[in-house]
Amino acid sequence: MKFNEFKYERLDFDKSTKEFSNLLDKLEKSTDSKEFKKIFKELNVFRAHLTTMVSLAQVRHTIDTSDKFYDEENDYWNDKLPLYASYENKLSKIALKCDFKDELYDYIPETYFKLAECSEKSFDEKIIPLLQEENRLTTEYGKLKASAKIEFEGEILNLSQIAAKALDDNREKRKKAYDAKIDFYSKNEAEFDRIFDELVKVRDKMAKSLGFKNYIELGYLRMNRLDYDQDMVANYRKQIVNDIVPTVTKLREKQANRLGLKSLKYYDIPYKFATGNPKPKGSANDLVNAAVEMYHDMSPETSEFIDLMYNSELWDLKSKPNKEMGGYCTTFPDYKAPFIFSNFNGTSGDVDVLTHEAGHAFQAYQSRNIETIDCQGPTLESCEIHSMSMEFFAYKYMNKFFKEDTQKYYYLHLAGTLEFLPYGVLVDHFQHVIYENPNMSIDDRKKAYHDLESIYLPNNDYGDNQLLNKGCWWYQQGHIFQVPFYYIDYTLAQVCALQFWVRMINDDKTYWNDYLHLCKLGGTKSFLQLVQEANLISPFEDGCLKTVKDKANEYFNSVDDTKL
Ligand code: ZN
Repeated sequence: MKFNEFKYERLDFDKSTKEFSNLLDKLEKSTDSKEFKKIFKELNVFRAHLTTMVSLAQVRHTIDTSDKFYDEENDYWNDKLPLYASYENKLSKIALKCDFKDELYDYIPETYFKLAECSEKSFDEKIIPLLQEENRLTTEYGKLKASAKIEFEGEILNLSQIAAKALDDNREKRKKAYDAKIDFYSKNEAEFDRIFDELVKVRDKMAKSLGFKNYIELGYLRMNRLDYDQDMVANYRKQIVNDIVPTVTKLREKQANRLGLKSLKYYDIPYKFATGNPKPKGSANDLVNAAVEMYHDMSPETSEFIDLMYNSELWDLKSKPNKEMGGYCTTFPDYKAPFIFSNFNGTSGDVDVLTHEAGHAFQAYQSRNIETIDCQGPTLESCEIHSMSMEFFAYKYMNKFFKEDTQKYYYLHLAGTLEFLPYGVLVDHFQHVIYENPNMSIDDRKKAYHDLESIYLPNNDYGDNQLLNKGCWWYQQGHIFQVPFYYIDYTLAQVCALQFWVRMINDDKTYWNDYLHLCKLGGTKSFLQLVQEANLISPFEDGCLKTVKDKANEYFNSVDDTKL
């Protein structure tokens, strides 16, 4: 069956909520585990169908926003989903109260209960007005950024367009474009400060009204951190400073040398090669064909997966009029099928869709038979292990995509993964400082960021840029405003993916089976349990980064990057 043949039908609201509620009543009254599981199974079927219909409406709406029918359906679900959420909430409450939980774990993963506990602890009706206020503020942040109209050389540009100009071969022009971008933040400094200040205060209030010392504890619960705490995270950040920061410093020196500069300024950092970034060769269809060949060769499982994606047309890859921006991966549980949405634009990002997003989709496909849909996919830090590892597994085939640019792609990709780690944990550290001291003055917040930059990014040189020198770079980082404490997740996953890379190049014969096992487990286990199941070292463990760092340095030392 092809994606276009997947049947969409709006659920009758009164009928379906009545059914939901009846099932919940029966579940609550069940007296033994056999009965409980039977009704829970019926609930799983019901919820899978609901999810499938919502996903179908959303996907078809994003593919063609001018389609009136799906536009209306999308609005309908935006309106109704919060109402279904209250039934979901009741479901997890019943599950938590159940006296014979231990007897249920063979059907309902234990993780389901742990997640239910997190949402139970992090919510109370009395914080609803604060949650609404938080929503209003995060929307305001998004709108402020979207409002950017930057005048540059006779054009009016938005933030992503000006970022592209800042990659110019001409250094003066790079600086001018970068400064024009930062100038937008400068002009709106007071607004960014106000929005952030209000967000910090509202989150602190939320935490205190739920009985927490500060927002950090609540933030961890809202991010579903099931098995690690602030101290472990702090130790992990320390390891990044010791093991990765020196490597990144060396990479930056090499970059300066490559570009013929004495040292890099802030506007040089995104500009990696004087000869330009590696570009995929061939049309969108060529890239898709190369991906099909790659997954056929990689393993029997990826082969079956890519045939399903291709034959059932479970993706919409190319940019076209009326299509929404961006990219994502989602699933249709009724059809046990994932779906990839993207906007190919001729950059190496197109290949990332076929490796990274396909990694997410591959995992979703491997865990399609887990009936408790809440546990098909894991918590966010674990999710990215599947996708980031797939980027590394695809190395062997990159010549199909990049041809003469292949070596440059390797260098850029590996250097990029390492360079990201210190920045990622800096963002995390900053948020800990902020929420530990919610009454810190606005100027002190900036100073705190600036001080942390000198630990994690010691070679950053902001030249004469006043706003950046003041410690305001983070205005650009949406996660800090919109999803607090969600950022370190990418770095934790990257450290795991890098371990798979090391195992792959060391010709370890077990890495693929471990990866497959990890994908099949979906979200039935917590992060550290998953890491252990995949025979990876926990990123929190001392010494975890050493092998990764040594192997990476071995590679960087073996390449003459000036020839790339
Ligand atoms: Zn991802």
